[in-house]
Amino acid sequence: MQKRRAWEGASKLYQSLVSGMSRGLARRILLWIVCISATAALLATSAQLFFDYRQDVSELEKGMRYIEQNQLPGLADAAWNFNVPSMRVQLDGIGRSPWVAATTVRYGPSQQAQLSSGKIDHDADMIYRYPLRRHGIVVGVIEIEPNLHTLYGRTMGRIAIVLAVQTAKSLVTSVCILLLISWMITRHLTQMAEFAQSFEPGQRFRPFILRRTTAHQDELTVLADGLNDAYARLQRAHEFEVRHNEILTQEVALRTAELQEAHQRLARQAVTDKLTGALNRFGLEERFVAEMLRVDAEHAPLAVILTDIDDFKEVNDRWGHLAGDVLLQEYTTVLHSILRATDTLARWGGEEFLILCPQTTLEQAVQLAAAMRARVEAHYFPCVSHKTSSFGVAAWRQGDSTNSLVKRADDALYRAKEDGRNRVCPEIPE
Ligand code: GH3
Ligand code: MG
Ligand code: MG
Repeated sequence: MQKRRAWEGASKLYQSLVSGMSRGLARRILLWIVCISATAALLATSAQLFFDYRQDVSELEKGMRYIEQNQLPGLADAAWNFNVPSMRVQLDGIGRSPWVAATTVRYGPSQQAQLSSGKIDHDADMIYRYPLRRHGIVVGVIEIEPNLHTLYGRTMGRIAIVLAVQTAKSLVTSVCILLLISWMITRHLTQMAEFAQSFEPGQRFRPFILRRTTAHQDELTVLADGLNDAYARLQRAHEFEVRHNEILTQEVALRTAELQEAHQRLARQAVTDKLTGALNRFGLEERFVAEMLRVDAEHAPLAVILTDIDDFKEVNDRWGHLAGDVLLQEYTTVLHSILRATDTLARWGGEEFLILCPQTTLEQAVQLAAAMRARVEAHYFPCVSHKTSSFGVAAWRQGDSTNSLVKRADDALYRAKEDGRNRVCPEIPE
């Protein structure tokens, strides 16, 4: 179990490292840190190496001074006495110093005799020359080529160690910094970005929670709180908008229904006679034309009845206009009571009405008109108690127009009036 946890932890760490490297922010920060730390390390190392080198050079000079003060007097003494074996011994002693690469001593008259320890490279950067004095007289000259390999070797060794240490340090520090940035910052930023992308207004809002083992109050907490706050407000705004839209939709539906109803009412009013509730001329015209077209196409029978209340003027004159209006309403009710469902009653004008009877022959229409006349005659009307009316009937003929058909019905009505009223008159046959 512990092994598994350790393995999971390691793989998480690896993933965060890989994702940290592949993502821009962590990589850029790391690059900057590496550049800055490398520059700083280079400057510090260069300074340190420079001082180390200076110290080595002063040690070399110290070595040379030691030779000059402690070994050259003996050598000068040997040169004064021409004691060559002693000179050889002393020269070998000088040559054994770690700072000496090679030495040559010239002695004797005109200093032509020469003894060497190693071979001096006369092209070397540095060669020390010291005169050998005895009793104030120069008895020879010694040339010493310092061992610069020791000097450079030391410096190069230091450079190699410093470079290796600095590289390893930078590498380890970089990896640690990258892991820390990924673990402490960028993985949370990535999670916040995923949260923001997955946010869908209208869906259940689940606030963003920072996945950290211990709770800290830092910039990330402030950012997460800000994110949650912003999305919560967005969610509330969305819910408000949805509710607002619902109310608006209901309002629009209500208003539309009211408008439709008003439109239907207006349309009904436009074709209805206000006093009697029967169709007006305008409403009749539409149906009449439709019936005429149908009759033209099918040659089915169609009849028209025109009816006019007898001596209506006298009602107005005697009981007043209102009584006349009531009579007109009552008269319409009586006619309606006898009409068939297919018939259409319309106020033709004044106290005159037209009844359009589809699928009705002249005889059938005359019978219908007779029934109406009888019903009217028998009816008890307010004020006037009894009233009669006359009827003119005509049926469709080939080539008829609405006008010609109504004209024949009107002629028939006229004859009914002429013949003494309260009667039904059919049109004159062809
Ligand atoms: P007839 O038997 O020959 O039809 O005689 P009448 O008196 O019925 O006919 P007339 O044409 O002389 O008179 C019709 C009257 O109807 C004239 C007009 O004032 C009246 N009238 C027309 N429309 C209305 C209405 O809407 N209300 C009332 N009260 N009277 C109306
Ligand atoms: Mg009349
Ligand atoms: Mg009339």
